[in-house]
Amino acid sequence: MKSKFIMLIPVIISLIYVIILISSRNPLIIDDLYPENSCNDLLEKADILYVIPNFENYSISNNKEWCAKIKSLNKTIGLHGIKHSYHEFNKKISNVELVSAINSFENCFEEKPSLFRPPYNKINKENEEIISKFNMTIYKKRFIVHPYCHCNPKSFMKPLNWILLC
Ligand SMILES: [Zn+2]
Repeated sequence: MKSKFIMLIPVIISLIYVIILISSRNPLIIDDLYPENSCNDLLEKADILYVIPNFENYSISNNKEWCAKIKSLNKTIGLHGIKHSYHEFNKKISNVELVSAINSFENCFEEKPSLFRPPYNKINKENEEIISKFNMTIYKKRFIVHPYCHCNPKSFMKPLNWILLC
């Protein structure tokens, strides 16, 4: 009995891998994009790019060259938080900062954001309502914590890019 179970382990692992792969690449999302955290090859493969509009208080709209480059890729671009601070959208957000983030996005890409993904996939009800008022659809995947490709993953995220065949 025990040996049968051991034989099943590779099957189970493969199955989990396939599920993760399918769910994470459909569509292929590049996460945490901003001028200092950009790349080329991966961006071209992606379907949706999630941009942080004001990382470390630097607005993306200040870098017109980067904005033009991202826009020229002709991908769906979504808004990914404001500054991407820890569980940013689980706390009370500043309306002024949100409007400024949306304006930065619009100045950068010449379109209003229609897709929104909260940093760390965390957003409370109150903020969900605020985001809906700005006509953005909230993209959430609860199934896997953070199944997306990253341009320059930090050390602990590197294996994820590898596992997801980014
Ligand atoms: Zn993120």
